[in-house]
Order: sequence, then structure tokens, then C-alpha cells
Amino acid sequence: MSDARDEAAECIFCRIVRGEIPSQEVARTAEAYAFRDLNPQAPTHVLVVPVRHAANLGDFVAAAERDEVGHVLALASQIGREASPGGYRVVINEGVDGGQTVHHLHLHVLAGRALTWPPG
Ligand code: AMP
Repeated sequence: MSDARDEAAECIFCRIVRGEIPSQEVARTAEAYAFRDLNPQAPTHVLVVPVRHAANLGDFVAAAERDEVGHVLALASQIGREASPGGYRVVINEGVDGGQTVHHLHLHVLAGRALTWPPG
């Protein structure tokens, strides 16, 4: 088995996508899965993840086929708009300095309150 397949077998978000770990589903397509964050930072806090395992945004973009990047962004936008007509925020953390703690690309969709800037 390749390293990438080993990584996907153990990855917590891959396991959520496969239904091996429970999650609160918000949306599912062939290429992406959206579910509620366990530790919400806003009234709506949804994570959008690509089904294909990629450790972070840079790795995902580097190996992207067709319009995979656009697809996950479009799903995040749809969820944000439906949750809050007044606006929403999409956040992607990468690496230690970016504050990334789970190493499968995920877009945080935050909505339902006025969000401050700059982030911490
Ligand atoms: P990040 O710090 O950008 O890597 O974000 C990881 C996010 O995943 C955090 O907001 C966590 O609360 C969230 N998280 C971790 N495990 C789970 C889980 N099993 N179900 C839902 N959200 C999770």
C-alpha cells in the first residue's frame, strides 16, 4: 500500500467521509462532504472537505483534476449563503503557523454572527 493510501486510511476526515466516524451531515456530493464542526466558533460552523485525501490546500491544488478546487469553493459558498444572507466567512488553515490541526484539507464556513477582523 502506498504512503498516500496509508494516510487516507488513518485520516480522521477520510474516516468521516466514509461514515466510519459519525458526523452531522450538511451536504454531500461525489467530490465533497460538508459536516458540522464539533467545536463551533459561530452559530453556523461547517467544514467542507474534498473526498479525495489531500493534507492541505497546497497539496490539493497541486494534484487537482478538472474543477475540483472550484467545486469545494462553490459548495462552501452555497452553504454560507444559505446559512446567512448577511454574510459569512470561509477560512482555510495550512501548516503550523496557519493553525492547522487536522491534516486533510477543510474549508471552515462560519456564519450567523458578525465576525471580527483580523483573526487571531
Ligand atoms: P483546523 O485547526 O483548521 O485544522 O481545524 C480542524 C477543525 O476540525 C476544528 O475546528 C475541530 O473542531 C474540527 N474537528 C476535529 N475533529 C472533528 C470531528 N470528529 N467532527 C467534526 N469536527 C471536528
